[in-house]
Amino acid sequence: MTDHFIKLNCGNCGGELDVYDDMERFACGSCGTEIAVQRRGGTIVLKSMTEAIKNTATSADKTSSELALMRLKEEAENLSKRYDAMLKEKIERNKRGYLMGVSVLLIGFVVVRSGYGLVVGLSLLAAGIFTISYIRRHDKKVVVDLRELHAKLDVLNGRIEDHAYQP
Ligand SMILES: [Zn+2]
Repeated sequence: MTDHFIKLNCGNCGGELDVYDDMERFACGSCGTEIAVQRRGGTIVLKSMTEAIKNTATSADKTSSELALMRLKEEAENLSKRYDAMLKEKIERNKRGYLMGVSVLLIGFVVVRSGYGLVVGLSLLAAGIFTISYIRRHDKKVVVDLRELHAKLDVLNGRIEDHAYQP
């Protein structure tokens, strides 16, 4: 221990500090704040450690919340893409399904009317009706799925908004 020291004040409580030449880190005698001594040339800078740790923690928290927000946005984007794809598929399927059902129904009708092959004509009519009712039933299920997907998307977007309004 040398007797060479300078008097400085604590950055936290303003209390007097005796900083000796060989000190790198110490605690303030008045408030207990941990202080690091940084020497550059002839100057001495005191850094409050607790403050430094606090700052690091806050920025770490911020990063993780930004990361969470990014993940939420990614999830919402994926869901939204899936929703659009499902909707497009539904429209396409309905178009094709109804076209096929109606075509079969019409052919059946023509065959029945022409008087040739009544059984074949009636079978075609039945097949046409079956196709259309199948498409309608399937479409109802898809609508429920779409509604569920949309509800999930709403929840996600709500969470994203909550994040955005956080101070
Ligand atoms: Zn102090």
